[in-house]
Amino acid sequence: MSKWSRMETELSNLKSSHLYRKMTAFDSGQQKIVYMQGEEKHLFSSNSYLDMCNDFRVKEYASRILQEYGIGSGGSRLTTGTCQIHTELEEAIARFKKREAALVYNTGYMANVGILSALAKKGDVIYSDKLNHASIIDGCRLSKAEAVIYKHNDMDDLEEKIKAREGMSGIIVSDGVFSMDGDIVNLPRLVELADKYHLLSMIDEAHATGVIGDTGKGTEEYYNMEGSVDILMGTLSKAIGSEGGFVCGSRLLIEYLINTSRSFIFSTSLSPVTMAASKRALELIEEEPERVKQLQENIHYCCSQLKKNGIKGESETAIIPIIVGEEEKAMRVMDNLQEQGYYISAIRYPTVAKGKARLRIALMSSHTKEEMDGLVEALSKSIL
Ligand SMILES: *Cc1c(COP(=O)(O)O)cnc(C)c1O
Repeated sequence: MSKWSRMETELSNLKSSHLYRKMTAFDSGQQKIVYMQGEEKHLFSSNSYLDMCNDFRVKEYASRILQEYGIGSGGSRLTTGTCQIHTELEEAIARFKKREAALVYNTGYMANVGILSALAKKGDVIYSDKLNHASIIDGCRLSKAEAVIYKHNDMDDLEEKIKAREGMSGIIVSDGVFSMDGDIVNLPRLVELADKYHLLSMIDEAHATGVIGDTGKGTEEYYNMEGSVDILMGTLSKAIGSEGGFVCGSRLLIEYLINTSRSFIFSTSLSPVTMAASKRALELIEEEPERVKQLQENIHYCCSQLKKNGIKGESETAIIPIIVGEEEKAMRVMDNLQEQGYYISAIRYPTVAKGKARLRIALMSSHTKEEMDGLVEALSKSIL
């Protein structure tokens, strides 16, 4: 037995159960048309919902900041790694989300891990939705609190679990838009429970920001409940098209995290270049509300076309899961779609439950009706 044999065995097990993963490299940037080994593919799986990664005004502004400030930030935020642009971006996020203050982390993953581990201590409880993102799960693990998992978006189950621990302090945390199912949290009930039982509410806006609500402000706007969530977390890497995670809320919350959140404190801050890109993209979302409107129209159109063609896929968000079940089938459909010129990621265990493998369609505001028709036709051929 060599010291490597355990890894070899595990990898070969993954292969035989169709759960082996590898990366696909595109020869082009993130846009609705990408190139793979010189071949053109229609991309219907990107998180760049508003097609901001390549917007010329974002690139122009980021280039200007690049020339002025260079690449690396040179330090952590509390030492030498805060430039004016970091502060400006945080002010812009706070304004966008209608909060007193905001704080940028290096990634959304680091934000969730850093927020939960700072706020929840031994003796506290974190109530977490069964389908929450892995970064929330890891945040629970890293905190010393008890993690209590409630049934997906089931507020009755949540209340029962809270009642069983009444009087204990803690946090209720949920994705706003669930990343692999595309459904939306029952925010009114979640906030009601948080208030009733004196718990903090925390919502992850990764797939809600720039997508839902009349002007793309996210889950609170969708429900007309602005200002109701205690801890609003999100990422700059999806609809914003850049990099970084954020949290916003009261000044007290942000001051506390600056002083205690380890993934914020002990890591070199992001480059001024990505900060600039995020800031310009946020401005554009506000200046051009038609982008968000177009994305929402695309969601509506695509779902109705899927339905017309007998394919089950419903969503109010940019994520439309087409559940095929078996892992092997999902991989087969993905390959077949690629042969037809479409790139759609197959999602398997452990990202989703075993036997719930799916094609995860993600729409962009720039997709045209013709492109979506083409996708639905290709899907019909490869699934039915
Ligand atoms: C992508 C995602 C994250 C992590 O954000 P990154 O910036 O990619 O690290 C966190 N939460 C949810 C729900 C996500 O989908």
